[in-house]
Amino acid sequence: MQSLAGGSPFLPHTTHCAVHPDRAGAGICVRCRSVVCVECTTPLDGINYCTRCLDAAAEQLRAKASLIPPSRRREALLAVPLMVVCFGLCVLVFFGLAYGLALWRSSAPGGVTPEG
Ligand SMILES: [Zn+2]
Ligand SMILES: [Zn+2]
Repeated sequence: MQSLAGGSPFLPHTTHCAVHPDRAGAGICVRCRSVVCVECTTPLDGINYCTRCLDAAAEQLRAKASLIPPSRRREALLAVPLMVVCFGLCVLVFFGLAYGLALWRSSAPGGVTPEG
């Protein structure tokens, strides 16, 4: 580990990876500002993260991604059968009424064929 204290006039590009002290730093983690080497830096959405922060970021992304879909999926899953059932009920009621009305009309005592 190398300490930067002391007000070094040089940019910290000469520092080494926080995980691998024998390797030159290739970037700085945007999250914890620690220097990482080529192997340790992992660009996520074009941003450099060290392995530790990558885990945290990935977990956050996963939590975010897993939070939204289930509720939406559940809504869609519930909405479609509900619509089908409502439509089916409407059709059943309509045809039932029509059929009943036709039966009632044809067998109604007052509905006999008029003279002629
Ligand atoms: Zn970090
Ligand atoms: Zn490294």
